[in-house]
Amino acid sequence: MMNREIAPYVAFGAPRSPSTNEVLLALPPVVLSRLETRIQRVRLHDVLLAMPSDPVTLYFPHRGTVLSLVCTTDTGSQLEVALIGPEGFISVESLIRRGAIDSSAIVLAEGDVTCVSAMRLRAEFASDSRTRTVLLDYLALYVQHLTQNVVCSRIHSIEQRLSKWLLALRDRAADDGIHVSHDLLSKMLGIQRSSVTLAIGNLNADGIVERGRESIRVIDANALAGRACECFEMMQRNLDQYRAQRTARGAA
Ligand SMILES: [Zn+2]
Repeated sequence: MMNREIAPYVAFGAPRSPSTNEVLLALPPVVLSRLETRIQRVRLHDVLLAMPSDPVTLYFPHRGTVLSLVCTTDTGSQLEVALIGPEGFISVESLIRRGAIDSSAIVLAEGDVTCVSAMRLRAEFASDSRTRTVLLDYLALYVQHLTQNVVCSRIHSIEQRLSKWLLALRDRAADDGIHVSHDLLSKMLGIQRSSVTLAIGNLNADGIVERGRESIRVIDANALAGRACECFEMMQRNLDQYRAQRTARGAA
């Protein structure tokens, strides 16, 4: 994994192109203009948060960009906490409080992110009720996601978890090609590499995915959904409700 950190936040400027991040699009335009966002290209396996420092920048993925929020132990073991696509941002923790965080983020599908000053967004969160509602809606979805991941990792089989994860990444990236090695996958999911290889081998043998050295291509998403645990459907339902709630608020 390339461990290249993105340069720290330096200066704001006019965006190169409109952001497609759903949280930013839901903010009042006047608030968005005060945030003075900046758009940045991120590449596969870039590391966006340099733990354990206090992040000065929050990252809002655009459509097609996917980030993995990862926790690392003192011994160097890593585990994915959540996948973040255009529905959200990182780090939620830094929105609520200042200080060092215990996680970092790795780019799993490259593309654009909108960079926002954590300090400015915290100020808007404190002073503007509509901004607070938008951000708390995402916070609720994020907590649902974390809770479900805890249950999933304890109860469901490796193949079920792997299938769910591949689908979640595919949907956020809007791409059947997933650029991840078995080694990285085993770290992300906290599963032994040999077990990952076995599970992918089974899905490959059944024509559901096509495995490569550093990538996996989803061939039959419906069949893959059939191999995933119930968490995938629940995650989709939560996401649909989150989007419907925001649409209803926008129409009110
Ligand atoms: Zn599950």
